Amino acid sequence: MTKAELVTEIDAIPVTYREPTDHDRFRSVCLVRIGTADGTVGWGECCTYFPEASRAAVNLVEAFAELIIGKSALHIETHWHEMKAHSWWYGTGAGITSMAISGIDIALWDLKGKLLGMRVLDLLGGPVRDKLPAIACLHGTNPSIEVMAEEIAGHTATGLHGAKVGFGKRGEANLGFDEDRDLEFVEKVQAAMGPDKKLMIDLGVKNHWDVATAIRRARAFEDRGVAWLEEPLGHDEPAGYRTLRAATAIRIAYGEREWNARGVQRILETGTVDVVGLDPGRVEGITGFKRAADLCALARRQANAHNFSTAIVGAASQALSFACPACYLLELQPVYGPAQADLVDRPIWHDSGFVRAPEGPGLGITINEELVESARI
Ligand SMILES: [Mg+2]
Repeated sequence: MTKAELVTEIDAIPVTYREPTDHDRFRSVCLVRIGTADGTVGWGECCTYFPEASRAAVNLVEAFAELIIGKSALHIETHWHEMKAHSWWYGTGAGITSMAISGIDIALWDLKGKLLGMRVLDLLGGPVRDKLPAIACLHGTNPSIEVMAEEIAGHTATGLHGAKVGFGKRGEANLGFDEDRDLEFVEKVQAAMGPDKKLMIDLGVKNHWDVATAIRRARAFEDRGVAWLEEPLGHDEPAGYRTLRAATAIRIAYGEREWNARGVQRILETGTVDVVGLDPGRVEGITGFKRAADLCALARRQANAHNFSTAIVGAASQALSFACPACYLLELQPVYGPAQADLVDRPIWHDSGFVRAPEGPGLGITINEELVESARI
């Protein structure tokens, strides 16, 4: 072991920012910065969303730091297992523990790549494809269906292959409640985007459908060619999902609220999920995402990065989506937001609807540390 690879510092930095895609709401994450003796630095992110969760993640990251400081930054698997073993009593495999492990794990992968002069993508085994189709990730917020249809079509006109639209979000869109209005929305968005574009619908926590409603709604969306229906029954409704799956052929998406590969295995075993959402800032990092996505590939199910926080999770999602055979596309936020566009020197973007593999050592990004300091809570 050389001195250069020894971890000397781990900082947890809770930050807050406005998210224009989510009606300008304040969101929070806990960033993680890990440094080694030779001054190399890696960055990670705990996808906490709420300030109280970011503050709680700080405490856990600082406790995990004691397990890692003085040890090799290259031994990611060792540290991942040690963090899980250490936290057994207070919640290994769930909640803020999983987020804290995620932030450290992502930072260690970035750091390892930078120390070795290799891309995280190469450390993961290399790309399994040379480009990924990108779709727009959007929330419905405007009261006018016509205005929303025009806005969404404006984004897909840049080449993006389609749009995933969040229903039941902040703002006045009021989607996910009235069936006729929702179908009018689907038809008008599809007409505005044109026939080559895909529409995905993602139900929010404000939309609470019972099983019979979900079946009726899913069939109506299926008839209109909606590409997938996300969380129509939330994240933990195995019996309801079995009934829904038997009644419709629409692709059903959920999983982004799972905490680790074991949780993903559990939902795969129900046979009711076609597109499994995975967030590297929540599902025990890059290490946890890879494990979970490999399970999805074995089960012949699609994995889909939940890329909806900062550009650090974005860069991790990009590397993972190129490395994992179960990932077929990548969601991007086309609406300008500082957490994606200004935090790093090279935010992910698309060229005629396709994202290319990341370049540069580690996650291939340099963090705007001034912006981080200005966002600190
Ligand atoms: Mg979702």
